[in-house]
Amino acid sequence: MKIDLITLFPEMCGAVLGESIIGRAQKSEAIEIKCHQLRDYALDKHRRVDDTTYGGGMGMVMKCEPIALCFEDIVKQREKRPRFIYMSPQGKTLTQEKLKELAEYENICVLAGHYEGVDQRVIDEFIDEEISIGDYVLTGGELPALVFIDALARLAPGVLSNDECFTEESHFNGLLEYPQYTKPIEWRGHEVPPVLYSGDHAKVDRWRYEHSLINTALKRPDLLEQKQLTKEEKSILKEYLELD
Ligand code: SAM
Repeated sequence: MKIDLITLFPEMCGAVLGESIIGRAQKSEAIEIKCHQLRDYALDKHRRVDDTTYGGGMGMVMKCEPIALCFEDIVKQREKRPRFIYMSPQGKTLTQEKLKELAEYENICVLAGHYEGVDQRVIDEFIDEEISIGDYVLTGGELPALVFIDALARLAPGVLSNDECFTEESHFNGLLEYPQYTKPIEWRGHEVPPVLYSGDHAKVDRWRYEHSLINTALKRPDLLEQKQLTKEEKSILKEYLELD
């Protein structure tokens, strides 16, 4: 997976993406991430990438041409035209399903906006989709882009090791993950469920499956409404809720 990020703050983004799992994945070449300084594509000597808005108002708008030139330069550097995503509060809200879909693309380019956003014409001309990280507005697109890139990159082969596998994690199959515990077995009077240290792997799997369902029913019942529950799953939940 190759990801290009167009931003006014490439150093800041590069520093975050250079740490921990995503940083290691770049070093091992499981993924490639390049942060591009949009100002390098500005047309005037002041390196301006924004201007006043037509129709009046206080805010500034990001100009078309620097974004177009930057994207066209990235296209030349990549074997395939990347899917071009604009981080925007007007986009579809990011979900794990959307991430799974986008992880199929070999090349992704992300645009982080600023000020009042981006001139609509460059969106119409180049952007394949707008993605939001939630129904609230941030000052800039860097944090949303970092959230998106982190969540996307961890789905690329070789980024997570086997013991960090994502397929059992929350949202991958429409459920939340089961509760997790670590040492000690007893902490301030609270015990780890004995089955988890019984050494019986079949029973551990069963416990995790049941508690993934129960966890979802307790914390996010809306997720279960979107799922076709089997007879067995319904009876696990019924039994648990009756006990509770
Ligand atoms: N005027 C825009 C509007 O009302 O839709 C908001 C612009 S916002 C202040 C500046 C930039 O932050 C946007 O261009 C976008 O890149 C980013 N941004 C802000 N909130 C976001 C969100 N919830 N999801 C994704 N990007 C967001």
